[in-house]
Amino acid sequence: MNTLLLVDIQNDFIPGGTLPVKDGDRIIPLVKEMVWMPFDLIVATKDWHPTTHASFADNHGQEPGKHITLDGIDQILWPRHCVQGTWGAEFASGWDTTQVEKVVYKGTDPNIDSYSTFFDNAHLRSTGLEHYLKGKGVKKIFIVGLATDYCVLFSVLDAIQLGFDPYVVLEGCKGVNIHPADSEHALEAMKKAGAHLISFKDLSDVMKTKAI
Ligand SMILES: [Zn+2]
Repeated sequence: MNTLLLVDIQNDFIPGGTLPVKDGDRIIPLVKEMVWMPFDLIVATKDWHPTTHASFADNHGQEPGKHITLDGIDQILWPRHCVQGTWGAEFASGWDTTQVEKVVYKGTDPNIDSYSTFFDNAHLRSTGLEHYLKGKGVKKIFIVGLATDYCVLFSVLDAIQLGFDPYVVLEGCKGVNIHPADSEHALEAMKKAGAHLISFKDLSDVMKTKAI
């Protein structure tokens, strides 16, 4: 069963948003094409924060980029982004969102951030994605989205831990790169953990030949 997981493809994460990933909009033409490829299931996630969210720098009177300790966990402070019900939290336009069978929301707890689409950053609370995918018998997951060095990275690592088989479509991911090599290191970490890194041009073949 071929499943496509679209990670946080939202207005605030592309140029024009409050936390834009450089070239984040460049993945949209691929996503536009991918949602019409013969996937058995398409799931999308949304970063979905309450206005009081603890990852927002302005809720602490701080500048973005500073680090704080939140419940014993290091937390980088971000510009206010993906606030529930706002334009910034909507899917970026340019692709057919009606192909998405399920939307999973993350970062909804005001007191903790959630980079992974499976768990919050303390690994205490599940987003429900694991249960949903396992209930459908999903094993192989093709992953694209934003950003490579945060939500894609932690989602892929959790996916492996949970027994899924993730395939990261390289051209479909862009990174924040607070440090210039962050995305590169993130991809190395995913590969080392057992993820498959594939090119968009090979996607069709991989879907056909390795379907589980
Ligand atoms: Zn967030």
